[in-house]
Amino acid sequence: VNIPASLERLVAELARLPGVGRKTAQRLAFAILRNDTTRAHALAQAIEEVKARIRFCEQCFGYAEDTRCTVCTDGRRDPASLCVVEQPGDIYVIERSGVFRGLYHVLLGVISPLDGVGPDQLKVRELLARVERGGVTELILATNPSMQGEATALHLSRLLGDKVPRITRLARGMPVGANLEFTDDVTLNQAFSGRQTFGS
Ligand SMILES: [Zn+2]
Repeated sequence: VNIPASLERLVAELARLPGVGRKTAQRLAFAILRNDTTRAHALAQAIEEVKARIRFCEQCFGYAEDTRCTVCTDGRRDPASLCVVEQPGDIYVIERSGVFRGLYHVLLGVISPLDGVGPDQLKVRELLARVERGGVTELILATNPSMQGEATALHLSRLLGDKVPRITRLARGMPVGANLEFTDDVTLNQAFSGRQTFGS
């Protein structure tokens, strides 16, 4: 029995999302269809709005609805402490744990020669410029503990080593290959409080 074409299209789109298999996609599609029209429209509108309104913060490259994000414009944050992450979503993981009160810098990826991604494809030049403007006393490298994440941290520590008084890396509480995105608050708290000077 074939699923009607328009329903199949929705299933196919949902199945493209990470962590959503064909079975889950079908379940979600049926649920959307069962909902009343208002709910279905609200979902469609939310997706369109997020694509239309969200942009990268001009300073940290996190998500923002204005030129700067809500972290960068918060005067209570400590600009001397800069935490470098791979993706905008990593900011919310760290924020949820409540362990960090400084500012962020999102690289929008990691160095991965096999995928043709070098420092020039990332927001590394922008990070260098931010650091060179002065005032940063600690740079926390919070890239994931994967091979690419480690290579990226190493590159940044060499590039910025003589420009920042202290460069640290999150402690090894996080399992190798783990993604920041899936790290729980307790582990993240330990990783932050146990952070070590890079290379030691
Ligand atoms: Zn920002």
